[in-house]
Amino acid sequence: MNPVERARIIIWIRRIVQAASLTFFILLMIAAHTPEEGEQASGLLKFFFNIDPLVLIGTWLSTQKLTHLSLLALATVGVTFVLGRVFCGWICPFGVLHNIVTWFRNRRRKGRPRFEVYSRWQRAKYALLFGLLISALFGAHWIGVFDPASMFYRSMTTTVFPSVQHVVDEGATLVYQTDPHVGSFHFTSITEPIYGFFRDHVFHGQHHIYTGSLLLVLLFLAAILLNLVRPRFWCRYVCPLGGLLGLIARRSMLRLRGTDVTCVNCGLCTMSCPAAAQPEQVEKWLPHECFGCWNCVASCKRGGLHFQFEWPWKKVGAGSLDISKRLTLSALAAGFVGFLAMRLTPQSRERSYNPKLIRPPGALDENEFLERCIQCGACIKACPTNVLQPALSEAGVEGVWTPVLIPQLGYCEYKCNLCGQVCPTGAIQPLPLAEKQKVKMGLASFDTTRCLPYAYDRQCIVCEEHCPIPTKAIYFHEKEIVRRDGSLMIVKQPRVDPELCTGCGICETKCVFRDRAAIRVTSANETRHPGNRPMLPGGERFDLGIPEGEEGGPSGVEVDPYGGANPYE
Ligand code: SF4
Ligand code: SF4
Repeated sequence: MNPVERARIIIWIRRIVQAASLTFFILLMIAAHTPEEGEQASGLLKFFFNIDPLVLIGTWLSTQKLTHLSLLALATVGVTFVLGRVFCGWICPFGVLHNIVTWFRNRRRKGRPRFEVYSRWQRAKYALLFGLLISALFGAHWIGVFDPASMFYRSMTTTVFPSVQHVVDEGATLVYQTDPHVGSFHFTSITEPIYGFFRDHVFHGQHHIYTGSLLLVLLFLAAILLNLVRPRFWCRYVCPLGGLLGLIARRSMLRLRGTDVTCVNCGLCTMSCPAAAQPEQVEKWLPHECFGCWNCVASCKRGGLHFQFEWPWKKVGAGSLDISKRLTLSALAAGFVGFLAMRLTPQSRERSYNPKLIRPPGALDENEFLERCIQCGACIKACPTNVLQPALSEAGVEGVWTPVLIPQLGYCEYKCNLCGQVCPTGAIQPLPLAEKQKVKMGLASFDTTRCLPYAYDRQCIVCEEHCPIPTKAIYFHEKEIVRRDGSLMIVKQPRVDPELCTGCGICETKCVFRDRAAIRVTSANETRHPGNRPMLPGGERFDLGIPEGEEGGPSGVEVDPYGGANPYE
């Protein structure tokens, strides 16, 4: 078999692997939904983050702990050392998407092929990598903003999935309402089972919307559409994981070499190279840019190229990685400035607890959480109630797109602990359900200017009914009031027991006020920050210090968290 025939077979194998990788990625996303009670989520759900060495190194640098050592990520490093950047060319699901768009672009440009010449701007990805790593070293972990696995997962979760769901829902509803039919054949007999399949097995009966998704859509579209400007634009110019693997692949063992055939400079290999790795000047071929796609070998009609294994200490060729000291130092300095800029926000100061920054149950202390979270959106996708949303400004620039609970949109399901199980970096700890149910994410408090029994002399027990805590964190004080007409009435005024309230937010979600709930949750009292209390020390509003069970104690029946003085009265 000559090199061209062999290359064509290898290209077909690559396409199959790429299709399988993208399909597997999507199936894992679909599989990330609340398991049956008592079941553990599969560890496979983290697969694409576990094989990502940038996640490993970034988390290691930012936490300065090797708690998240993934052998799979080390395997990716090993494979890159032997075969070059095949992760980019064969495995990366985001890369597959870029490949598909590039394929469409090339089809449209048929007859007008372009020489894919190496550009020095391709060094930008190394600069970005250095900047992100130095910033991570100081504790500002922004790697997930650019890491392809995180970016793709986050974009799919917050933009593609909800869009597909909207189209499926609206389409099925339209067909159902208009009921098109030919004779006795109703199209709904086809569309309804398909809709049922999507509803039950793809969307799992959830309907998700996300805050700030417009920005995420625009960034995702930009990353995809830039392939129309240059093939695999993201992978060539931006991807920091590509940069990291490029550094490892500089002396990869599988190398492009020429055969004895005389090159006629037809340029077919250059036109087919999506990486602009200079296959046309085989002695200057750039191993750190090459995706190992084998297009160049297959494109050479004279069979002038082939890949062969060589020892790593043997010099590759003249096409070296041109990262100057100046570029490296500038990138490191930019990373440090970026770190300072992120830390100069009020949200990043330890003492300023943002009441709106309610983190998922099991989230680490905010500093450590930010050191670990890679903004992948795995928890956001897995959350069955849509309460987890990508943060905008709640956690400062450093915490953009990290998960926050927004109880107006949903609540933390009492019987679910999935977010901790799918988090690939341990930013949310995988707590057993019984333990998770005790974690305080925040504290609910009443707005007595709106709450019906306080403000309108009406009975209402909706929040108490929905409170999932077995002994109820909402209880009632019966109060005699004089109504406007002078008659007397007993109203049951709800109160929150701060010892029991976990801040799950269901009371806020279910409150009868649809515009602005009369009970609202803030991050106060959260387990992860003992200092985040609703009052300054000395106020002793909630830290009553009365042992449980004693009269007036925190979990007794007769509990008054205000010590007898309701500040709203
Ligand atoms: S040099 Fe060849 S194998 Fe490498 S990316 Fe370009 S076309 Fe693919
Ligand atoms: S907290 Fe959520 S977004 Fe952050 S790394 Fe874990 S799963 Fe991903």
